Amino acid sequence: MKSQNKNRFKAAMVVTAASALLVTSVVTTQASNPADAASAKTKNVILFIGDGMGTAQRDAIRLATVGEKGKLAMDAMPYLGLIHTSSTIPVTDSAASATAYASGVKTYNGAIGMDANKKSVKTIMEYAKDAGKSTGVVTTSQVTDATGAAFGAHVEDRSKQSDIALQLLTKSKIDVLLGGGEDFWYPAGEPGKFKDEPVEDPSEKSKGTQGNLITKAKQLGYSYVTNKTDMQKAKGGKLLGLFANEEMFQQKPEGEGDIYNPVVSLPEMTKKAIDTLAANKNGFFLMVEEEGTDEFAHQNNAKMTIKAGQELDKSVQVAKDFAKKNPDTLVLVLADHETGGFSIEEVNADDESGDGISKEDGPFAIANSKLNFVVDWTTSGHTAVDIPITAMGRNSELFTGVYENTEVFTKLMQSLGYKVK
Ligand SMILES: [Zn+2]
Repeated sequence: MKSQNKNRFKAAMVVTAASALLVTSVVTTQASNPADAASAKTKNVILFIGDGMGTAQRDAIRLATVGEKGKLAMDAMPYLGLIHTSSTIPVTDSAASATAYASGVKTYNGAIGMDANKKSVKTIMEYAKDAGKSTGVVTTSQVTDATGAAFGAHVEDRSKQSDIALQLLTKSKIDVLLGGGEDFWYPAGEPGKFKDEPVEDPSEKSKGTQGNLITKAKQLGYSYVTNKTDMQKAKGGKLLGLFANEEMFQQKPEGEGDIYNPVVSLPEMTKKAIDTLAANKNGFFLMVEEEGTDEFAHQNNAKMTIKAGQELDKSVQVAKDFAKKNPDTLVLVLADHETGGFSIEEVNADDESGDGISKEDGPFAIANSKLNFVVDWTTSGHTAVDIPITAMGRNSELFTGVYENTEVFTKLMQSLGYKVK
């Protein structure tokens, strides 16, 4: 009872603080100087998507990295919300989910920037571009894979990755593109920088359907880089970096050729993207995705799922460092859906321990302790459970509560001061 009263008191305090914020923004908006009025809007957005990263994954990453008393960069943020992830069916894929975030519509699985009737829907990055901001997509997946694609392309099916690449260059004109997926930028027979049919995955080879898109990108003024040194040296506002044939890792079950060792790390790509985009005095919209948290969960490989999550957390820290110096920046960390029905259990040999996907995975050491935990999986697919969102920076208080994935778009528009057109 006592603690309940205390919580109620705390809630009242939060409401008071929120109303104080509201008052401040109303006063600012009404100020006669237009520059003052604009200052309440979010200038820069850095949106992190841990693909497949549900609540339990975030907790396992925390236990393995900082232990029970520690805090991840993605958790040390003032605001928390919970998101329902359905598409037009209960279990979404990454394409429909990213379309919900980017354009505010529930659509069918596989859709990129289109509603359920296959009509193109304007994306938040297209709105940002119209407002004079720079835009960027960073991922350890193909830059043309579903999540990034839904922010800057409109195609009926996510598999059309060369069409997506062409649209990112010529239609939505995304300024910074860093990730994998070189195979879709060169036609068959032109291997590019990363050779066809490598030993670690002989199925990887150039399969572009839109000609040589690297030549095209260069003609459009992009600097093109394929390694860390060249990426860090690159100058100018338009940057294309492709660092793998497909994903920047090999998603396999544990001990069967699983590799997570990107040639350029996610935090390094994030840093370069922010440095490049921040040169625009109108601000920027950047989406950063870690794909390993999903792909390794599909393999029920908790070791690599956690490793990928740790890289995501380091990238969040890079963004937070920028946001501290640039308080008109909004930083969000969320997922598109949960993958694997991931659960954290104690180490107990008498527990069910089935075989295949229901087998316990681990044990994993809890950092700063002598204790361990095991991971249990219920599926190798996606699930329909809610996912958490944490938020800091300008207008981050908008992201509290329990809401639909489509409302992420609405809240972003509100935060940036845009009207739906
Ligand atoms: Zn998936």
